[in-house]
Amino acid sequence: MTDMTFDYIIVGAGSAGCVLANRLTASGRHRVLVLEAGGSDRRFWIQVPIGYGRTFYDRRVNWMYETEPEPGLAGRTSYWPRGKVLGGSSSINAMVYIRGQREDYDDWEALGNPGWGWTDVLPYFKKSEDNGRGGDAHRGSGGPLHIEDVAHKVHPLCEDYLRACAEAGIAFNPDFNGAAQDGAGHYQVTMRSGRRMSAASAFLHPARRRSNLRLETGALATKVLLEGNRITGVAFVQKGRRKTAHAKLEVILAAGSINSPQLLQLSGIGAGSVLQPLGIDVHLEAPGVGLNLQDHLGVDHVYRSRKRTLNNDLHPWWGKLWAGVQYLGWRGGPLSLSVNQGGGFIRTRPELERANMQLYFSPVSFLKAPPKTRPLMNPDPDAGFLVGISPCRPTSRGHLHIMSPDPTVPPRIYPNYLSTEHDVAEMIEGSRFLRRLAATPTFSILIKEELQPGLQVETDEDLADDIRQRSGTVYHPSGTCAMGPDPKRHVVDSRLRVHGMERLRVVDASIFPALTSGNTNAPVIMVAEKGADMILRDAV
Ligand SMILES: Cc1cc2nc3c(=O)[nH]c(=O)nc-3n(C[C@H](O)[C@H](O)[C@H](O)COP(=O)(O)OP(=O)(O)OC[C@H]3O[C@@H](n4cnc5c(N)ncnc54)[C@H](O)[C@@H]3O)c2cc1C
Repeated sequence: MTDMTFDYIIVGAGSAGCVLANRLTASGRHRVLVLEAGGSDRRFWIQVPIGYGRTFYDRRVNWMYETEPEPGLAGRTSYWPRGKVLGGSSSINAMVYIRGQREDYDDWEALGNPGWGWTDVLPYFKKSEDNGRGGDAHRGSGGPLHIEDVAHKVHPLCEDYLRACAEAGIAFNPDFNGAAQDGAGHYQVTMRSGRRMSAASAFLHPARRRSNLRLETGALATKVLLEGNRITGVAFVQKGRRKTAHAKLEVILAAGSINSPQLLQLSGIGAGSVLQPLGIDVHLEAPGVGLNLQDHLGVDHVYRSRKRTLNNDLHPWWGKLWAGVQYLGWRGGPLSLSVNQGGGFIRTRPELERANMQLYFSPVSFLKAPPKTRPLMNPDPDAGFLVGISPCRPTSRGHLHIMSPDPTVPPRIYPNYLSTEHDVAEMIEGSRFLRRLAATPTFSILIKEELQPGLQVETDEDLADDIRQRSGTVYHPSGTCAMGPDPKRHVVDSRLRVHGMERLRVVDASIFPALTSGNTNAPVIMVAEKGADMILRDAV
């Protein structure tokens, strides 16, 4: 197999690529090749929900990117895990299912993207979804992606969290993806019966028996092949051999926010000022490639608890043993859950028209964790828990670019976190909210001590310092091949076609014109559902 011809070639079998693979092969009319740099997802720690602590630093399934030192983070770098495996980042993520706010998509449309308003995208969210509670005006049922309610099995401390939120004026919301997002509640998760439901398990594996789908793993795409401005195929490396595959209809990049812009630049589609110094011929001057990088940043406040937390359940060896028995016996217990068990969306100022802050409650703490570990199953010995905040729509914009023509060299990533006053002010408002929550009757009885940042951190200046020292990515980089009408700034048009090229689309988190208010997996899956529809319509 050194030369192959298909109708479509999809690069990347992540959240978006798996949806595309399924939808583009469904009719049987088109032959589709999927190239995935990573390997099989049939791994215990991918299937077990809490296993994302293990895959977090596992190079076998993870690209393990690192940003450049960030001035906004006091010169620290930020570690960016990204899935390199079937299912992509949906195979190593924390499984929280959040679509965002209707205004997010109305904003996308207002930025010059007709057809991307809330009423346009809602049917695609519903199409992908199999909500455990059934479908209604807001939710879908019968789709490939099962969404599970875990409220009945979360840690009892979640009740204290919800009571504290109510005392702080945050009402209970039974469904963040229903009529309104505001409020506190339990996160729904992409799981089925205690097993992770990645995009691969939902969309790719069920399609693999179709004879018109060819999946190549361990296949690193190195560039798209061009004839003039028309894309003809993809060059890739597999087991050390260079190969090419040809596409009669289209090549679709679904390699994610870091690798899709990287591939465009490696192919000579990008800013001449980036490509020429590296000796790469500029096929298309596309200055927007790699710009508009956006990410959610978060910070946690960590508390010592007077009541038992997951720390007490999971720290001792017998606790781990019991957790294993519960999981293997009936897919129950803490291993069958994400640690983000409680959540919320709040307005940090009453005059705001929509929620601007996301909350994460985890009945567990990891202050004693050695560096470069994420020991979700080996928490601190004493009872502890944490509440995190993350502003929904940061205004800081970063960029990334390749630094070598070698496709195995990671791009340089500059997130530019906290580079606007607005973003610093919002993080401080979020931290102040956490202090208010900690002072509620319920939490002031529960909390023995604020371990981080600690009560000596008092003024706005102190809090800003703490945020620069401790905040980190919430793993939602997006926007680096932004959708929009202006080829000088945007990379794809509203049908996700690369401006100035023929037969080339980008369909993944990189096309987000702006971050959505919440976690990004569900929005990426929606983008791919809609993208697949557009691709199929354009084929007739
Ligand atoms: C640790 C972590 C926790 C997260 N938690 C949540 C959460 O709880 N809820 C939520 O909604 N979102 C979460 N996210 C974010 C969410 O998972 C991502 O936004 C989403 O999966 C991105 O989808 P994508 O299709 O754009 O990219 P990905 O899913 O990353 O897929 C890209 C795929 O392309 C492949 N690829 C890349 N380059 C090449 C190449 N050159 N050749 C071939 N293949 C290539 C990659 O290996 C990968 O499989 C989390 C992410 C991480 C990393």
